[in-house]
Amino acid sequence: MSFGRAVVIGGSISGLLSAAALSETFDAVTIVERDELPHGPEHRRGVPQGLQVHALLAVGQEAMEDLLRGLGEDFQAAGGVVVDSPADLAVYTAQGWSGRVESEARVVCMRRPALEWVIRRRVAELPNVEIVKATAAGLIGTDDAGRVTGVTLRGSAAASISADLVVDASGRSSRAGAWLENLGYDKPREVELRSFIGYATVPVRLPEDALPEGVKGVLAHPHPGNPQGAAVVPCDNGLYLVAGLGMVHADPPSDREEFLAHLDKAPSPLVGEIARKAEFLAPVETYRMPGSRRRLWEELERMPEGFVLVGDAVMSFNPLYGQGMSVAAVEARLMRDVVRDSAGERTGLASRIQRSFKDTIDTVFGMVVNIDGLYDDAELLGVDRPSAEAVTAGRYLSQLATEDVETCLAQKYAAHYFSADKVRSQSIQDKLREWIASGREVTHTDPRCIPEIMRR
Ligand SMILES: Cc1cc2nc3c(=O)[nH]c(=O)nc-3n(C[C@H](O)[C@H](O)[C@H](O)COP(=O)(O)OP(=O)(O)OC[C@H]3O[C@@H](n4cnc5c(N)ncnc54)[C@H](O)[C@@H]3O)c2cc1C
Repeated sequence: MSFGRAVVIGGSISGLLSAAALSETFDAVTIVERDELPHGPEHRRGVPQGLQVHALLAVGQEAMEDLLRGLGEDFQAAGGVVVDSPADLAVYTAQGWSGRVESEARVVCMRRPALEWVIRRRVAELPNVEIVKATAAGLIGTDDAGRVTGVTLRGSAAASISADLVVDASGRSSRAGAWLENLGYDKPREVELRSFIGYATVPVRLPEDALPEGVKGVLAHPHPGNPQGAAVVPCDNGLYLVAGLGMVHADPPSDREEFLAHLDKAPSPLVGEIARKAEFLAPVETYRMPGSRRRLWEELERMPEGFVLVGDAVMSFNPLYGQGMSVAAVEARLMRDVVRDSAGERTGLASRIQRSFKDTIDTVFGMVVNIDGLYDDAELLGVDRPSAEAVTAGRYLSQLATEDVETCLAQKYAAHYFSADKVRSQSIQDKLREWIASGREVTHTDPRCIPEIMRR
């Protein structure tokens, strides 16, 4: 049975990957994107976060590679850098320096417009995918509104486009709730974690000896005791990004001197010192967002056939943990698999796809709540703060991970693969009990002194 045409609203990371996922089974896939898309690695209006530091986690790379073979090599050919997060990046947290150990957890570092461009080039080459410039203005339904059959358009010669499946990948400001209301459906419940996040990023060139020996980047994470963070990480083509990070309104500014002062106040002063040796290649760009927001589409009892939402349109996260693009990639792969397994059965297909995202989103949202929920000034709407036991357990686990290789790797695995399975192993739980009973303190707390790599 032919699946016909899929229309994807939005041509950013989740739209492109959804199109790649559906191109396998649908005869034709049309991406509707309101921006004029650049023919190179350039920033564009529709992705205002594009100038801020981005990193692609291991699970996201693997899902992308599964959808578009050879994409990892394409990232590197376009100048992207692959780092081993726990070994190459020195990370200072509320518990001192995170453990450093060689791992399989690879992170792709490159500027966001370049990363998107590499994916877009590959998707545009797929023979049954086209990208059209238009703004999606609403949904078209059958007379009984039981199925979505197309999208109305603005800013293009065609007033509408028909579809057998419509995917909303239009990001955080998706209008899908209002569009569905027009068809007689309820809006989904929303939960929010307002941790009032600020970013400021500048691309720089670093002199050769600017970074401490043996590391490719330094992150000083904000935490409730100090909400001003800082990072310097490689991006592409030998350049670096320096970023100021802020939680609960501790927004980094764009003025160069004030930006440097923000970096100085981060939990480790190393990023500020490195930034002072850097050649700034552009103005410092700032970005603010209220926090993480989840729309529980999968909960709705009534949804039309033929309509699915992905990426930030479903859940947009505090970007400090680098999860958004990876969640989008995992969702696109799930979408491909559900369509593959459907044996051509279109009834219920959209809701099966939507429900398949739930476990991943639950896990990632839980991780964000456990960290951002620690800030007294964060506002939680429709979601509980982490329990005192969860907070204490998390703190001890992070302490143990600064010195124990197995725990360090398990914690990295949880962050990179959205799975706490390894952290829950008997061996780690035993070590954790021992650590707590011993009353030991962490040793790597000097914010200027990066620890050696631990041997396995
Ligand atoms: C400051 C910051 C830093 C981040 N850092 C990271 C990171 O390190 N790692 C990571 O994985 N993620 C990070 N993210 C998250 C990441 O940017 C997003 O999760 C990712 O872009 C996926 O989003 P999306 O494709 O769903 O939506 P978006 O990227 O928001 O794209 C939506 C697209 O839809 C288009 N569009 C919107 N409305 C319409 C319409 N009506 N018709 C047609 N087109 C439309 C827009 O033009 C745009 O192209 C960060 C986010 C922020 C804000």
